[in-house]
Amino acid sequence: MALSDQKTTIDYAFDEQHIWHPYTSMTQSLPVYGVVSAQGCELTLDSGKILIDGTSSWWSCVHGYSHPTILAAMQQQLSQLSHVMFGGITHQPAIEASKRLVQMTSDNLTKVFLADSGSIAVEVALKMALQYWQGRDQPQKQRIMTVKSGYHGDTFAAMSVCDPDGGMHTMFGNNVTKQVFIPAPTSKFNEPLNQTDTLALEAAFIQYHQDIAAVIIEPIMQGAGGMWFYSPGYLVKLRQLCDQYHVLLILDEIATGFGRTGTLFAYEHANIEADILCVGKALTGGYISLAATLCSDEVANGISDSPAGVFMHGPTFMGNPLACAAATASLDLLLKGEWQQQVENIEFQLKQELASAIDLPQVNDVRVLGAVGVIEMVNTVNTAELQQAFVDLGVWVRPFNKYIYLMPPYTISAKQLSKLTAAMLTVAKGIDTTPVTAQFISHG
Ligand SMILES: *Cc1c(COP(=O)(O)O)cnc(C)c1O
Repeated sequence: MALSDQKTTIDYAFDEQHIWHPYTSMTQSLPVYGVVSAQGCELTLDSGKILIDGTSSWWSCVHGYSHPTILAAMQQQLSQLSHVMFGGITHQPAIEASKRLVQMTSDNLTKVFLADSGSIAVEVALKMALQYWQGRDQPQKQRIMTVKSGYHGDTFAAMSVCDPDGGMHTMFGNNVTKQVFIPAPTSKFNEPLNQTDTLALEAAFIQYHQDIAAVIIEPIMQGAGGMWFYSPGYLVKLRQLCDQYHVLLILDEIATGFGRTGTLFAYEHANIEADILCVGKALTGGYISLAATLCSDEVANGISDSPAGVFMHGPTFMGNPLACAAATASLDLLLKGEWQQQVENIEFQLKQELASAIDLPQVNDVRVLGAVGVIEMVNTVNTAELQQAFVDLGVWVRPFNKYIYLMPPYTISAKQLSKLTAAMLTVAKGIDTTPVTAQFISHG
């Protein structure tokens, strides 16, 4: 069979029988759409139908698909060195990617751990925090504090800091560590920190600080846990309390990093620094899995002073050269700075074109920040049903829970974006107002 034939034939029967998709059952199958290629902001289905992508493939593909610069970098790297172990070996792709990460992030972040996925970057961050306090003679600091409605990934430690009600805490029982939860921020993005949030934060630090190694939070935007934008003032207060009570601050920028909220990193809205920073998703421009955890000299030194003396993590594919080459190419595209105007334009257009949704009886809230546009419905939506409606309209939008949202590639044209927002309004309007049963929180 010629390669081009292979590419256009999708064996749906095999897929249905044998392959897990995110958050699905092997007995009650949901429709899947066969994608054969992608170019710019468009996905091509096996039927030949073209869909405008409103999701950037789960918020990662910020420069669009098949970008010539990233393709060339990956092709070159592939033929030179696709993979080599990172234990006792180094290579320039890891060095180049790390140089850029150190340069782009706040000055205090100097050390880079190259992980394989976002969840692992979070695991690494949590382990760094625990080992740090072992090295600072406070081994009792073993709990992690976070806010409700968060999302940090699907591995066990990451799950433990996801929203305790909508997340996966109860179904895995004692296997999920009990962490300390503060109510989710209520101060809106454009508002100063309110009294309710201030008191909740202060009370939590006073009560728990002695046992708390770190606070982990998604800065400015809570993503998979509710597509919610909160006040930079909240982060300013959090940073101050972490300093005051000797607690590390872990910022999970896996969703927000690399320009999504209008600043290169969301913490820039609050002008604060993290002790530990997680990045992922858009790190490679969405071309291949890679994530990273950065930390300060102080955190790295504390880890070195711990009984282990070394940081206790090292995955097989750590620092994969192919992924690092993609990251370097993607970061260089970002460093050119065009993303800033692109995100600004997207924000302006999303605000204009989604505003009228608030008048629909099915809609609870409409909000836009950077290249994120959210229509929050009154009721939980039926993802599979809406998915089909969007495909029929020639767009790829994947709602979850109560949220129909767009996080398009920054390179999207005004015309493509208009098609996406029009589809969102059409679909929102068509939703039946009787509720369907709640789903678990995930970005699935
Ligand atoms: C997606 C996401 C993760 C998990 O990343 P994976 O690559 O899916 O493991 C963690 N934190 C945040 C904020 C995310 O959006």
